[in-house]
Amino acid sequence: MLFSPERTRWPGEGCRTVPLSGHVGFDSLPDQLVNKSVNHGFCFNILCVGETGLGKSTLMDTLFNTKFEGDPASHSQPGVQLKSNTYDLQESNVNLKLTIVSTVGFGDQINKEDSYKPIVEFIDAQFEAYLQEELKIKRVLHNYHDTRIHACLYFIAPTGHSLKSLDLVTMKKLDSKVNIIPIIAKSDAISKSELTKFKIKITSELVSNGVQIYQFPTDDESVAEINGTMNAHLPFAVIGSTEELKIGNKMMKARQYPWGTVQVENETHCDFVKLREMLIRVNMEDLREQTHTRHYELYRRCKLEEMGFKDTDPDSKPFSLQETYEAKRNEFLGELQKKEEAMRQMFVQRVKEKEAELKEAEKELHEKFDRLKKLHQDEKKKLEDKKKSLDDEVNAFKQRKTAAELLQSQAQQAGGSQTLKRDKERKNFF
Ligand code: GDP
Repeated sequence: MLFSPERTRWPGEGCRTVPLSGHVGFDSLPDQLVNKSVNHGFCFNILCVGETGLGKSTLMDTLFNTKFEGDPASHSQPGVQLKSNTYDLQESNVNLKLTIVSTVGFGDQINKEDSYKPIVEFIDAQFEAYLQEELKIKRVLHNYHDTRIHACLYFIAPTGHSLKSLDLVTMKKLDSKVNIIPIIAKSDAISKSELTKFKIKITSELVSNGVQIYQFPTDDESVAEINGTMNAHLPFAVIGSTEELKIGNKMMKARQYPWGTVQVENETHCDFVKLREMLIRVNMEDLREQTHTRHYELYRRCKLEEMGFKDTDPDSKPFSLQETYEAKRNEFLGELQKKEEAMRQMFVQRVKEKEAELKEAEKELHEKFDRLKKLHQDEKKKLEDKKKSLDDEVNAFKQRKTAAELLQSQAQQAGGSQTLKRDKERKNFF
C-alpha cells in the first residue's frame, strides 16, 4: 500500500497527491481491465501484400501454427483483388478474431502501374466503415467487428538485387495508412552473404525514397531493448513451412532439400522467430494502437476536414459542431438554390427557344397556306375564264346552229312549194 507524504503535481495539472489512510481498492483496476478485455476477446487484422507465389499463405499457416482453409484464388483476374478471411482462434483462455487479407494477382499484370490502388481503397474502406460507425447516433463500437488493418506484411522477392519499382511505389502509397513490416520471402533462396547485402540495399532504398516502415516501439522500458535490437534486423528474412520433420529427437517445422534441411524456427537459418516474436508476442497491441491513434486518426482528420469540420475558427476560437453543421448546411442549401436557379433559367431559355422555333414554323405554314390559296384562286379564275369563253363559244355555236336550222327549214319549205306547183302543172298538162 502506498502512502505518499509528498505533494507531487501531475504535469500540466493543478492537482496534488494525497495519502490514503487505508486500502481503497482501485489498485485492482488493471486486473479489471485485463478481465474485461479477455472476456471480450481481441481482434487482429493482417494484410499480406506480395507477388503471387511468394509464400504468403504458407507463412500465415506457419505463424499461427494451423492450416487456414481458404478457397484457392484464381490468378487469371485482369487486376489486383483482395481476399479476406476471418478466423476465430483460441489460445489458453484468450480468443482472437484474426482476419487475414491477401492480395490476389499482385504483380501478375503486364502494366503494374495501378496495382497499389485496390490495396489503398481496401484500407480506406475499412477506415470509412469504422468512421461511419463512430458517427452514428446509436453506436455499437464495443461489439463492432473492427476490420481496420493493423499490420501489413510486405513480401519482398528474394532477388538479392534491389527493390522492384512496384514494391517501392506500393509501400510509399501505403506507409501513411498502415504499419508496414517488410519481409524478405523465401529467404532460403538467397545465400547468407547476399542476404546481408540485400538487407542493407533494401533499407537504404526505403530511406532514400522516404518510405516509412513500422518501427518497433522503444518508449516502453520493458520492451525497449528487444525492440531496438529487432529494428536493426529489418527487413526480416523469413521461410515458411508447415511440414514437420524429425531433427535430432524433436519434430520441427522445416523445408527439406536434397542437400540439407532448413529449419524455420532456427534463428541461424532465418528470422521467422524474430518476426513471430515482434508481430505477435511483443507488439501486437502496439500495432493495434498505432492503427487507431496514427493511421485512423489521420484518415479521420482528413475526412472531417474534407467535410468542413474544424477545431478552431479563423479567430482561433473553438469551432462548435453545431456551427460547422449549420455553416455546411447553409452552404449546401445555397448551392442547391444556385443549382435550382440555373436549372430554372435553363428551362425558361429552352422554352423560349422552343416557342420561337414554333412561331417560326407557324409563320412558314401561314405563308405556305397563303401562297397555295393564291395559287388556287388564280387557277380557279383561269378555269372560270376558260369556262366563260367556252360557254360563249357554245352559245355562239348554238345560235349559228339555230340559224342554220332555220335556213335549212326555210329552204326545205321553199323546195316543197315548187314541187307542188310542178305537180299541179303536170296534172293540168294531162
Ligand atoms: P502465395 O501465392 O504467396 O500465397 O504463396 P504460397 O504460400 O501458396 O506458396 C507458393 C509456393 O511456395 C508453395 O509451393 C510453397 O510450398 C512455397 N513456399 C512457401 N514458402 C516458402 C519458403 O519460404 N521457401 C521456399 N523455397 N518455398 C516456399
